[in-house]
Amino acid sequence: MKKILEVEDLRVYFYTYNGVVRAVDGVSFEVYEGEAMCIVGETGCGKSVTARAITKMIRPPGRIVSGKVLFNGIDIMKLREDELSKIRGQDITYIYQDPSAALDPLYTAGYHVAETITSHNKWIKIREALKRAIELFREILIPDPEARIKSYPHELSGGMKQRVVIATAVSNFPKLIIADEPTTALDVTIQAQILDLLKELRRKYNSSILMITHNLGIVAEVCDRVMVMYAGKVVEKAYTERLFENPFHPYTRGLLNAVPNPYKKVTRLETIPGSVPDMINIPEGCRFRPRCPYATNRCFKEPDLVEVEDNHYASCWLTPGCK
Ligand code: SF4
Repeated sequence: MKKILEVEDLRVYFYTYNGVVRAVDGVSFEVYEGEAMCIVGETGCGKSVTARAITKMIRPPGRIVSGKVLFNGIDIMKLREDELSKIRGQDITYIYQDPSAALDPLYTAGYHVAETITSHNKWIKIREALKRAIELFREILIPDPEARIKSYPHELSGGMKQRVVIATAVSNFPKLIIADEPTTALDVTIQAQILDLLKELRRKYNSSILMITHNLGIVAEVCDRVMVMYAGKVVEKAYTERLFENPFHPYTRGLLNAVPNPYKKVTRLETIPGSVPDMINIPEGCRFRPRCPYATNRCFKEPDLVEVEDNHYASCWLTPGCK
């Protein structure tokens, strides 16, 4: 399978008055054409910063310190802002957690979609783009699409707003959709509908999806592969089924034991003791060490991410072959 996205040793630091926050610290992964890849982890682990850095959307005091991002063979880090804006909204699109923040209250739902189409395809007239918006609304099951394109965001429910955001995101047939917690702000029943919709659109347009979530249920539901992040680092990466069946890293095991597991019977849900580290004063060695029940003196040295079985990587001294 062809790689649509390759991220290599990405580092994003925030230079604050209190010190340097190493939010993303040497993250590498790839997304293949047509696949759904998940980045999972607790709040503050660096997953959203990673997603934004893919199209260089990091604002001061943040800075992409080093790393390479290849999208369809194009070196994103070498592109100018005007070149990047042609890729954003066209080949790479974003769906964010809060649809209200993503939609401009002064413009109608249809205008959001039509404007995205015309800004990347100058030869398409707005009237034609609005027709495409109606088709898209119908496709993603927005009732009465002819009327809804004239609705303003405040006239739509949360789920309906997120559908408009999704219609905008797929309006130019993107190669990669980055969905950052797309269902977190929605009711549970609407969440399921939005996930079904994303799966359907992925199948229809053969777009790859990079899903950012803290919810392992979403990982199991949507993703082919999953990457677990902790305190700015990748701690485990595997095919979703393998990760659920055979997690190696104690943090991954802790996450899985904290939620009902669709692949395993568990008698009792557990919690991970402690909380995520202060990202300015990161623990020496393995960053999970202060919370890890298996920590030993060896863990004061940082373990590498090594392949522990076919296409399954983990970064822990307990995993076979770790160095
Ligand atoms: S390297 Fe050590 S501290 Fe880190 S997860 Fe493994 S056992 Fe725990």
